[in-house]
Amino acid sequence: MSTTRIEEPPHLVADLKTLCLATMGSQWPRLAEEARRKRQGHADFLADLVSLEVSGRRERRIQRRVKDARFPVLKTLDGFDFAAQPEVDRDTVLELARADFVDAQANVVLMGGVGTGKTHLATALGLAVCQKDRRVRFLTAADLTNALVEAKKAGRLSRKLEQLARFELVILDELGYVPFDKEGADLLFGFVARVYERRSLIVTTNLPFQRWSEVFLDATAAAAVIDRIVHHATILHTQGESYRLRDAKERLVEGEEAE
Ligand code: ADP
Ligand code: MG
Repeated sequence: MSTTRIEEPPHLVADLKTLCLATMGSQWPRLAEEARRKRQGHADFLADLVSLEVSGRRERRIQRRVKDARFPVLKTLDGFDFAAQPEVDRDTVLELARADFVDAQANVVLMGGVGTGKTHLATALGLAVCQKDRRVRFLTAADLTNALVEAKKAGRLSRKLEQLARFELVILDELGYVPFDKEGADLLFGFVARVYERRSLIVTTNLPFQRWSEVFLDATAAAAVIDRIVHHATILHTQGESYRLRDAKERLVEGEEAE
């Protein structure tokens, strides 16, 4: 078998670069060698090379989506201990991770006490949705509200809302942790009303629905928000003691046993 390298056709690499076909540019020698070794036909060689470009692009696009989502910490569903949350149905969560709810403009509400895995689940679902090649943005409710207040002050509210509406899924973390003033509450309400049935939301909150009026400062506004979010929503309740606390206690006990 010949071991001479396949000669690089003039212009090939430059042309691929002009067309922004980076993966094809770097991978063609390897695939060409392989094609010669396997006596692969031209059409199959071309198909393999193009398919490598397509998958390379998808991978880079997904990396960009994960970066653009600005998750505070990356968490995965594999890293979630479902046994610690028997109220959270694993199959329901895995189904959500397929991202069909995003295509259906449906929502997810994660409700429960501090440290029970709401942000973990929301992040892991967001990551899964990114991996399905959808645009995701993670924000705390306070960050979003502040951004809206700032944008309004600067006369750029509609531009800001438009910017946010480009994301197919917005994750609103920690609704209810920080109370808003009237303006903030109204702007957050405006945001929910705007994305309703056009985009998906994942909301995490420590407050049961009866107490959302404390966030929106107005029972009518709260009812309107709940109505919109819950209309097409999966509601997951996380329960029990803080996972971190439990984990720390278990380690403490194990340590004592080991002594
Ligand atoms: P919450 O947002 O409900 O306050 P977090 O999702 O931030 O809680 O969880 C607190 C910490 O505990 C995180 O580091 C998270 O990864 C971890 N954690 C919580 N629940 C679980 C779980 N069921 N399995 C694995 N890790 C968990
Ligand atoms: Mg949290």
